[in-house]
Amino acid sequence: MNIRKYLDSLDLREEESRRMACPSCHASNTFTVTKEMGLIKYNCYKLDCSIGGYHHTDLTAAEIKILMSKQEKPKQMEPETMEIPEYVVQPTAEHDKFHRFTKRWGIVDKRLLYDVKDERVVFPIHYKGRIIDANGRAVGGKLPKWYRYTGKADYYTVGTGSNLLVVEDCVSALVAYQELPNVTAMAILGTSLTSAHMAKIGEYNNVIVALDPDAAHKTLQFSREIELWTGSKSTAFRLDDDIKYRLDDDLQRLMEITR
Ligand SMILES: [Zn+2]
Repeated sequence: MNIRKYLDSLDLREEESRRMACPSCHASNTFTVTKEMGLIKYNCYKLDCSIGGYHHTDLTAAEIKILMSKQEKPKQMEPETMEIPEYVVQPTAEHDKFHRFTKRWGIVDKRLLYDVKDERVVFPIHYKGRIIDANGRAVGGKLPKWYRYTGKADYYTVGTGSNLLVVEDCVSALVAYQELPNVTAMAILGTSLTSAHMAKIGEYNNVIVALDPDAAHKTLQFSREIELWTGSKSTAFRLDDDIKYRLDDDLQRLMEITR
């Protein structure tokens, strides 16, 4: 198979992304292609498939026109500030379930709120100092286990360390932030990485993906995607247990690679 010919035959538009069956290993839905500024990036996420790379194409006159008009466009609107419902409150001593949950995981954050209606520990998500979204963890049996209040945020981050640590959820992010001094912890709030994640991740030179051990395959996949898209160094970190269990060995090894 001639990969260049194959890529040309897809006839991608500028800024188009597609996910499809791999032309090399034929696995379904593992092959991604994206065209940006005339450069096609392609990659197959099947672990035993090595296809991936870049292919230059010439921009058509029409594509150049589109690119130029884009640069003149005003910036995208910023996400609105979230209106906090009246049933989402500052936790008080009487909110037992809130305290049981935060105590169980040893998480301390004064910004956490409590949803008295749905019984959720609420992790506010900030953007430039404003709350734009929140993620609520059910602590009284309500479904879904995690609930997004506006869905406007792309990720939850905590900390200001120079190493970026991608973790499973908001609880893991807070635990990592409390245990590891040099990390910014990120929960991606979804099942896949988007261009919004990549834009943030690309700000860090050292990225570590440490999802829970039952997601070992996804850890490898994310790490590969991050290196391919951002050019940052990315490590797929093998945890012995979820970060929230704070295994000494896991934390020590994480500490070593995030000095
Ligand atoms: Zn493949």
